[in-house]
Amino acid sequence: MEEYEIAVIGGGPAGIMAAIAASKNSSNVIILEKNPKLGRKLLTTGGGRCNITNAKPIKKLLKFYPQKNFLKHSFYTLTNEYLLSFFENKGLNFIEEDNNRIFPESEKSSDILKILTDYLEDVVISYNFEVKSISDDFVINDKIKADKIIIATGGITYPQTGCSIDNYFLTSQPLTDIKYGLVPLVTKKDLSSIAGVTLYDVVISYKKTKVQGNVLISHVGLTGPGIIDLSNDISESISYNLLENDDVDVDFEIAIDLCPESSREELQDKFNQDFQTKGKTMIKNYLKLFLTNKFIDFFLDEINLDGETQLSRINKKSKNRLIENLKRFTFNITGFNDKLAKVTIGGIDLDSINPKTMESTIIPDLYFAGEVLDLHGPTGGYNLKIAFSTGYLAGLSASEKKKDRN
Ligand SMILES: Cc1cc2nc3c(=O)[nH]c(=O)nc-3n(C[C@H](O)[C@H](O)[C@H](O)COP(=O)(O)OP(=O)(O)OC[C@H]3O[C@@H](n4cnc5c(N)ncnc54)[C@H](O)[C@@H]3O)c2cc1C
Repeated sequence: MEEYEIAVIGGGPAGIMAAIAASKNSSNVIILEKNPKLGRKLLTTGGGRCNITNAKPIKKLLKFYPQKNFLKHSFYTLTNEYLLSFFENKGLNFIEEDNNRIFPESEKSSDILKILTDYLEDVVISYNFEVKSISDDFVINDKIKADKIIIATGGITYPQTGCSIDNYFLTSQPLTDIKYGLVPLVTKKDLSSIAGVTLYDVVISYKKTKVQGNVLISHVGLTGPGIIDLSNDISESISYNLLENDDVDVDFEIAIDLCPESSREELQDKFNQDFQTKGKTMIKNYLKLFLTNKFIDFFLDEINLDGETQLSRINKKSKNRLIENLKRFTFNITGFNDKLAKVTIGGIDLDSINPKTMESTIIPDLYFAGEVLDLHGPTGGYNLKIAFSTGYLAGLSASEKKKDRN
């Protein structure tokens, strides 16, 4: 039986960072990775460019996470400055884009992975090693014995990158409901005729929650940054648990304000004036003032108005319908596009984890890091930030602690 002081299960960003931190104090660390390579999901992040973190100051940054209190200690332990210095010290610099998103200057996630891997020179890595069992005395798959174990197996999304729902049951640690996060929505209506159209800077509402951003129409429904960010609130507000049933039935409505810069009254005034002065203009041409070209025919079809109708011929009822739909255009949503969900909502219950160390409060010497925990954030570098910071804290704490187990 091979023996190690610390076994890290999972070689994604959380596991790699945990092993890097642990190897500062221990020369006896192993990563057990199911895939033939490390960081398969990390390579896909940010469209292959890796939006590694978000540059907002910590206090402001934390406000974007539902679990801000839990994350505080790990964020102050591995700050953005410290995280980026790992890469800058090896010659990789960073650029900041809109909404404080940080990317490597080379725009290659493979550069991030390469540098992280360089830091693992003192760590043993066992590839193609899928952990299936952990005994009470920390024997893994009947093959490897560890004094301490860090579980960093990720969530359930993009299973082709190595994630699996089975990982939640490797220990008896309590779990919350598991849901899709940052996920595109499937519409009842077939939108293939307008697939590829972007609605820029619209306001999307789901019940009382509103998000401003771009909506991209896909063959099966709605995506784009605005929808993806709103999807976390939607998913959390619906009752389901993928641990019990992965056939998620949903049926709800979202509304899009296509003209958020004008109120209903302002539109009414403008229409009253323009319908008189531009009476001969066809409605399909007039709407170019408000809507992107490729969306106009679809919009008019949906509200049963012939695009060739001249403005002077549009009656009051139709005018009101136009205004109402410009301000509140609705889509019926019938599902989540689960194959494209980017993160998992839910996981190991945070009530059973010490946020100062990432150690289980139930099983001594067992640590957790990254997306396997009940932690998630919006798009913009917030999720890798969780993985790196909790991974670092788990690795550091595990390597600094004398073992409790015999
Ligand atoms: C398409 C896409 C784009 C994204 N873009 C961004 C972005 O730009 N910025 C951002 O902040 N976040 C992004 N995310 C989210 C981010 O990738 C994840 O939050 C992050 O990878 C989680 O890190 P992790 O180490 O916890 O888990 P993972 O990255 O999922 O790593 C888990 C590792 O554990 C291994 N493993 C699993 N089970 C076992 C087992 N039983 N035995 C051994 N090994 C096992 C897996 O093979 C995998 O290597 C994106 C996600 C996706 C899907």
